[in-house]
Amino acid sequence: MPELPEVEVCRRGIEPHILNQQVSDVIVRNANMRWPITPTISDICGETIRSVTRRAKYLLLETSKGILMIHLGMSGTIRVIDKATAVTKHDHFDLVLTNGLALRLNDPRRFGSVLWVTEDINEHKLLKSLGPEPLSSDFTDECLYERSRNKIVPIKTFLMNNNIVVGVGNIYANESLFKAGIDPRKQAGKVSKKRYIELTRHIKQTLAHAIEQGGTTLKDFTQSDGKPGYFAQELQVYGRSGEPCFVCKGILKEIKQAGRATVYCPNCQKK
Ligand SMILES: [Zn+2]
Repeated sequence: MPELPEVEVCRRGIEPHILNQQVSDVIVRNANMRWPITPTISDICGETIRSVTRRAKYLLLETSKGILMIHLGMSGTIRVIDKATAVTKHDHFDLVLTNGLALRLNDPRRFGSVLWVTEDINEHKLLKSLGPEPLSSDFTDECLYERSRNKIVPIKTFLMNNNIVVGVGNIYANESLFKAGIDPRKQAGKVSKKRYIELTRHIKQTLAHAIEQGGTTLKDFTQSDGKPGYFAQELQVYGRSGEPCFVCKGILKEIKQAGRATVYCPNCQKK
């Protein structure tokens, strides 16, 4: 599943090819995504893409009439291709540009979405209650501490709540808690301010590092044969259950929390 770093790398990959370009056509091959593709989406035709930004895992292509909001769901990928490139299975949507290129969405599982938003984007139901962006200055040292008081949920579940902070998906919650030496089962409300400051630093570093690593795949966004975006990463705990901890050589343990796999080191991560 694309996590925040993959979506940010995707944004950087497509931006140079679509920014300030005019939309000539939209092609909807299958509107049945997680939510139906907005029926009035062709209103974007003739508009110029003024900015390519991201909020949480939503890509936002802004025009003067509205914003095209794209989510990659569980399995979506986006490429910028020559508009005449042959269509393959699961190519559900094309945004065709007057420069001869097209932004093409492929999504085998169709949990992604393509929405045309003409209201205030910050008030959109999918965005309005989201927490701060983890790499922005809005995500301060005090943010997690303040939001965690009186919370009895485990800290890992707390971190993965998008209303607290966006983009700390399962991989990054596991990795950041390991680096901060915090037991993922500890109640969020009982973690000290000092440890939250440390954790915040690790969340920012882990996400920034993943984006940096993914940056090497930027050219893939214009290759019609590649599958860009899901880059391999150097992970300390995620996916390494039963293997030795890189720090203490103890065996990493796996548990389930809120239905998601948590891997941690019982020696290095303390309650
Ligand atoms: Zn360890």
